[in-house]
Amino acid sequence: MSQLLVVGNWKMNGSEATVAALLGEMVSAVQTPGVDVAICPPYVHLGQAVKAVASSFIAVGAQDCSSQTSGAYTGEVSPVMLFDIGCRWVILGHSERRQYHGESDALVAAKLAAAVEAGLSPIVCVGETREQRESGKAESVVAKQLVGALRNHAGIESLVIAYEPVWAIGTGLTASPQEAQAMHAHIRSVLEGIAGVDAVASRLLYGGSVKADNARELFAEEDIDGALVGGASLVASEFLSIVGAGST
Ligand code: PEP
Repeated sequence: MSQLLVVGNWKMNGSEATVAALLGEMVSAVQTPGVDVAICPPYVHLGQAVKAVASSFIAVGAQDCSSQTSGAYTGEVSPVMLFDIGCRWVILGHSERRQYHGESDALVAAKLAAAVEAGLSPIVCVGETREQRESGKAESVVAKQLVGALRNHAGIESLVIAYEPVWAIGTGLTASPQEAQAMHAHIRSVLEGIAGVDAVASRLLYGGSVKADNARELFAEEDIDGALVGGASLVASEFLSIVGAGST
């Protein structure tokens, strides 16, 4: 199994002062973690974050990127720019992007191709809504998102998929370790059917109200290779405990 990966998605939170405080605490605590660690602050704080984690084990990622490299795309940020300032990861297809910005699987696929071309490692988010789960469609929804997002996947060496059931994001509700494991096993079997994807080497993160007190049992599941952490990544002690749960 590959090393676990724990990623913090700060969403639209933070200021120069909180970035300095949070990262200061994390950098001094995360020494040789035994897990890969990345944090994804808002765009405006990425440069500050890259400097703050320099010479630490923490990597920096963005929460989104453009599908374009440069040009007349007002308000967009290109993956080339992100790589240039020191980002190494990018979250793509987060449910909040799909919900509030109408992102389709085709757009996620285009962003993924651009991100990989720029040298970034993408973290592709998939997940079903409560209604989809209750109507028995969770697996087919996730399979469709995966196949749609990975249609231009050529060249991805380190594929990372984050399974984030929409009903568990920011709600305090978490999929049970067994529910998450069942979906992760499904995801791996879908990946096996996509030519050119190494399903075994791909890392499958769980996301949705992960906290210090549920991380360990999630990480104990066979197909859970880490976590994408939202709210809890804004509290250094909580995030560090999640990292610690993956280290032991
Ligand atoms: C997320 O938004 O990626 C997420 C998992 O959020 P939370 O941990 O707050 O549920």
